[in-house]
Amino acid sequence: MTQAEESKTAKHERIKGERNPWEMLPDILEYARQGFGAFPEEEFNVRLRWWGLYPQGDGTGTKGGTDPYFMLRLRIPGGKLSAGQFRLIGRLSAKYARGTADITVRQNIQFHWIPAEALPDIFDQLASEGITSMGACGDDTRNITTCPLSGIDSHPRNDLSDLVAEATRALNGNPVFYNLPRKFKITLCGCESECTYPEINDVGITPVRHEDGREGFSVQVGGGLSTRPHFAVRLHFFLMREQIVPLLVGIASLFRDQDVLRQKRERARLKFLFLEHGWDRERFEKELSRYIDFLPEPWVPVEHHRPSQTIRDHTGFQRQKDAGKWSLGIPLNQGGLTPDLIDKIAWLSETYGEREIRLTPQQNVLIAGISENARDAVASHLGEWGLPLDGSRFLSRTVSCTGKSFCRLALVETKDWSKRLAEELDRLYPHPGKPLNIHVTGCPNDCGQQRIAEIGLQGVQFKGKDGVLQDGFDLFLGGETGSRKFFNARAGIRISQEQAIPLLSRLVGMYEDSSDPEESFHDF
Ligand code: SF4
Repeated sequence: MTQAEESKTAKHERIKGERNPWEMLPDILEYARQGFGAFPEEEFNVRLRWWGLYPQGDGTGTKGGTDPYFMLRLRIPGGKLSAGQFRLIGRLSAKYARGTADITVRQNIQFHWIPAEALPDIFDQLASEGITSMGACGDDTRNITTCPLSGIDSHPRNDLSDLVAEATRALNGNPVFYNLPRKFKITLCGCESECTYPEINDVGITPVRHEDGREGFSVQVGGGLSTRPHFAVRLHFFLMREQIVPLLVGIASLFRDQDVLRQKRERARLKFLFLEHGWDRERFEKELSRYIDFLPEPWVPVEHHRPSQTIRDHTGFQRQKDAGKWSLGIPLNQGGLTPDLIDKIAWLSETYGEREIRLTPQQNVLIAGISENARDAVASHLGEWGLPLDGSRFLSRTVSCTGKSFCRLALVETKDWSKRLAEELDRLYPHPGKPLNIHVTGCPNDCGQQRIAEIGLQGVQFKGKDGVLQDGFDLFLGGETGSRKFFNARAGIRISQEQAIPLLSRLVGMYEDSSDPEESFHDF
């Protein structure tokens, strides 16, 4: 560890240890009323995050610096919103965020380019609709994700929304858990396709069936991407439903107390207990037993129950458990919403559905409760608005981080480029094909989860043959999740953004044409 790194980590630990940032909303709003320059440095660079706030560039792609705007990420447990809440987000986006409202891979929405003076009104209005940003960022438990079909599809095991709400109440805002070594990501995922990627969360809870026929839950811990990607380790427990939240509280407490993880921020996630501190499954189970007051039933889990395919988005119409009702996953362009689109989707859910919106981990939107005879009308509206349900498989499965337009750390623009790529692939290969996910990130931090994608693109700037600096990507190939797990591998190919679209079009075409329909991209 260098001296600079040590001091940066120590300073961060000191500032967040001095005061619980969750108690500071009144102070934050008072600074905001006085203007951007009124924020003290320790609030600005550390404690604001606990309320989902990051200082942000001015939209011209400036890297570094402290431009006078904020990104605000909302915390939306399980991605569930009422149509009224969704409409409010659209109004705030139009009034204060230059029309931005991006769905993230953790089922949140984030605004960009918000001036400091707008924050008091935004927080007031959010509170009036029961929305918070508490714990959306910072060293705490991040938004807890779940399958967007939770409680509405035909699989009863998929209804974990009550546990999402209970775990959120136990961990978010609880002063015992405001100061974790780093961010802490939990998913409770009941769907067959494990659409929230439990294998790359700090804690992933999934339903399982015991050999004796009992239904219960399995837990895996220590997953994560970015620096040293690591698939979560499945503990040898068979858990009952009522044990889930106490177990999550126990794991959060164990994580909080590991001082060894507070020495270097880049090595502070739970996974580093396994990667750098010699922990294995048995050690984790033993340490965890000190933090829970029940004895989980020992059980060696069966791995073959896990999905073998990698189509995890829930786009298109799907039958619900209620007879005659359908849910509809609407494919969006990398989660990019506009106030107009938000109004239209809210109207659809109010007119044809049950006034409820769900955000998906693949950055799409789902509405529920559509009756059989309204399906054609809904599809027709979406087609008129440029959101066709057919022929958009790449648009719906291409994930992108916010990139240079919004992120101070980004090396390249990602959102518009990803849209161009997905549109070109949908034009060339409009028919349903093999599972193929493309994830794009603007820097190695991997907020776009590119290391699990079949095709991953990591932003880079490099000098071309003419010596001119250009924006491009390092290409990664062969990621897979499910019953087989592979992080993708660096292909050793660095391409400019312009070169990348024709090259990837050819690559996808070769895969689509390959003779074996069962062959995964990893084996191709
Ligand atoms: Fe920003 Fe990098 Fe994260 Fe993209 S991956 S949002 S560029 S930090």
